[in-house]
Amino acid sequence: MSAAITDPAQLLAYLNLAPGLLESAKAAGKLFPLKVPLGFANRMEKGNPNDPLLRQILPLGAELVETTGYGSDPLEEQASNPIPGLLHKYHGRVLLITAGTCAVNCRYCFRREFPYEDNNPGSKGWDKAIEYIQNDSSITEVILSGGDPLMLSDKPLQNLLNKIAEICHVKTLRFHTRLPVVLPERINENLINILEQARLQVVMVIHCNHPNEIDSQVSQALHRLKNAGISLFNQSVLLAGVNDNVDTQIALQQKLFENNVLPYYLHLLDKVRGTAHFYVTDEAAKQIIAGMTQRLPGYLVPKLAREVPGLGSKLHL
Ligand code: SF4
Repeated sequence: MSAAITDPAQLLAYLNLAPGLLESAKAAGKLFPLKVPLGFANRMEKGNPNDPLLRQILPLGAELVETTGYGSDPLEEQASNPIPGLLHKYHGRVLLITAGTCAVNCRYCFRREFPYEDNNPGSKGWDKAIEYIQNDSSITEVILSGGDPLMLSDKPLQNLLNKIAEICHVKTLRFHTRLPVVLPERINENLINILEQARLQVVMVIHCNHPNEIDSQVSQALHRLKNAGISLFNQSVLLAGVNDNVDTQIALQQKLFENNVLPYYLHLLDKVRGTAHFYVTDEAAKQIIAGMTQRLPGYLVPKLAREVPGLGSKLHL
């Protein structure tokens, strides 16, 4: 992470991009800073301001445009936040906000304004979350999210996993993480050992939006996870100018499958402030899924879904 690029001027110079983009990048970066690991930036095409990976991380002036219907908490998550660090939205599952940071700042992130500082329970604070899970025997799955749960270093992560594993009614531990894709170095031997030794069945939902995100290092990380017995799925967000066409979606699903990852969700954009330029209409999204269905086996077609506040599950379209 120490090699991550956080200065827009450095990123533009590194990618041979016109300095004219700098002013708006700096202005939009004040609201949600630029952060991209060097390895991820390396997968971008130099000199191409429309590169689909660049588009996901470069702050743009379009983020400063106020659009009706776009707010700070589009999923109304704070209403499902009974104690700091824990969200209980769906039956049988709880989500722990395990870390307040990510390795990358995705411009379309639905938690870009999430109050992580109020949801950082620290080591003592987990006791309350653990007690909450212990007291509700309907909870069989704990989801570690964030931020990115793999931003935790090994020791605190191991401690948290041990505490969760002691609760007998919890069977499954799920990670929602973008690190295997944006910082594959994180999938090191020590982490693999921790995951292999966990009593719980481990599921990892990675987050990959475009086939160019998968290079040989990512591929190796995914194979290590698979060899450790971890079930791998992918969720992505349908983003205008990034992956909103049938060919890209097909290439993405095929490349993921080559790397043992099955599709899970293709999310419609959550309407968080500053992201309207990524919006894809429901109609266009359905046509993309129809095109994929014609050319892919059913098991490689993700479910098109939207999160609707207050609904007991995601809305499938
Ligand atoms: S990795 Fe996920 S939580 Fe982190 S910035 Fe990207 S979309 Fe948001």
